Amino acid sequence: MIKKELKALGIDLLVNGTSTGTKWFGQGEKITSFSPVDGKSIGQVSSSTRKDYDKVLQAAESAKKVWADIPAPKRGEIVRQFGDKLRELKDVLGKLVSYEMGKSYQEGLGEVQEMIDICDFAVGQSRQLYGFTIHSERPSHRMYEQYHPLGIVGIISAFNFPVAVWSWNAALALICGDVIIWKGSEKTPLCAVACQKILADVLKANKLPEGISSLVTGDAEVGKWLAEDKRIALVSATGSTRMGKQVAVTVANRLGRSLLELGGNNAIIVTPQADLKMTIIGAVFGAVGTAGQRCTSTRRLIIHKDIYEQVKKSLTDAYKQIKIGDPLNTKNHMGPLIDTDAVQNYLVAIDKIKAEGGTLLVKGGVLKGKGYESECYVQPVIAEVENSYEIVQTETFAPILYLIKYEGEVENAIALQNQVAQGLSSAIMTTNLREAELFLSQNGSDCGIANVNIGTSGAEIGGAFGGEKETGGGRESGSDSWKAYMRRQTNTINYSTSLPLAQGIKFDL
Ligand code: NAD
Repeated sequence: MIKKELKALGIDLLVNGTSTGTKWFGQGEKITSFSPVDGKSIGQVSSSTRKDYDKVLQAAESAKKVWADIPAPKRGEIVRQFGDKLRELKDVLGKLVSYEMGKSYQEGLGEVQEMIDICDFAVGQSRQLYGFTIHSERPSHRMYEQYHPLGIVGIISAFNFPVAVWSWNAALALICGDVIIWKGSEKTPLCAVACQKILADVLKANKLPEGISSLVTGDAEVGKWLAEDKRIALVSATGSTRMGKQVAVTVANRLGRSLLELGGNNAIIVTPQADLKMTIIGAVFGAVGTAGQRCTSTRRLIIHKDIYEQVKKSLTDAYKQIKIGDPLNTKNHMGPLIDTDAVQNYLVAIDKIKAEGGTLLVKGGVLKGKGYESECYVQPVIAEVENSYEIVQTETFAPILYLIKYEGEVENAIALQNQVAQGLSSAIMTTNLREAELFLSQNGSDCGIANVNIGTSGAEIGGAFGGEKETGGGRESGSDSWKAYMRRQTNTINYSTSLPLAQGIKFDL
């Protein structure tokens, strides 16, 4: 179905999944990538053996000094060229993302646009790796701080953003002077191969050595090699909280650094003063966009009792309009789940909702028949529940939206919104300034992202992205997230002829 696109991206039907740049190898088992769109095999990628992995590490070790010695704005120039290549290939890469992962073509294009945006951001940032200057307490002394590259950065990424999340890490790590090793999701290996090829071509055209950007392919086992490896200064891992807990312990055990971007359980609070038209659009896009497989997908709507029935009716009416099918057909709103395991998890969640006493307003189900041969297409669900249900407290990576009623003041809604283990994204729909400001205050949302009159999903790259509690605490992308990819050094210079000690301590010889 996408042979033309694969050709444009330079990908064969059988690809080696380990790369140090221009060199591609891989002796491990072959992973077949099946499209959830039609269930067909797209191609095969060989996974990395331990020997392949060690070759990658050697290349990264020998490239890291060369790359770190290149001035940061010149590293930015390489990232600029990468961004330009992405502009040229936006259409074909966006289509591959859509076909391999199953998100809509528009969202596939959006992902590639995010890659372009972070490249632009990183180019500017490459001239702004600022440290402070500090006034010394000692005469004729000067203090300042500077940021140096960390060395090797390992990137582990999830299936649902198979290209953008890597690029957030890659663009910043590269301008910071780090070399990168990526283990993409085993569910979307061709997207990873495509991105590595595009970047490797840019590095080659600039006569840069092997090992600046590398790719390894495989499942959790290969991810564990990265987490355990002392040579990797920072492991940036995006995925489930279950994975993050394992990576955090392994990396902490060797006192390495980790940057964790894990699961969410995102809510929109709808107060009596909400603009309901905006609320419905925001909630529906947040819940069914990417078939509920965004870390920022809207999972819970916390609605005031006075408008509860009205919101419920508008939502259930809106769900009747949702067209489900081939995500490459722009008429459809929702594509498939990633695989049949995800469909099973969705079905188990529906059973749990019923078992815990929830009411299904839109009851869901697996779609069968023409166009649904992959068996990955499901109907979205709306359920009335209590926030305390175990299933509501869990992130189910599927289009299941929970309606929860609150009474009284907005503080009660905020308390419900915060009563989950995760802390990624949150939103309030209100035209009341007091409610909005309270939600954004220290007594408001406990999430890393808090929005007013916008849904929970669809972040821009300019802001720092990430969340609190079981979401892992990491921040990526914009603002000063670049600092995670560098080590900070404080420098004190004495240009006097004496050696006064700090805190006035006397020491005479
Ligand atoms: P997953 O945890 O199953 O896998 C993510 C990646 O981690 C894969 O590459 C996998 O091979 C690897 N992995 C799994 N176990 C590992 C281990 N023990 N050690 C090292 N690596 C390991 O997640 P998924 O199903 O691919 O993605 C969905 C999850 O990702 C959801 O929970 C979603 O919320 C989360 N996510 C979070 C963000 C964010 O920025 N917070 C962004 C995207 C996805």
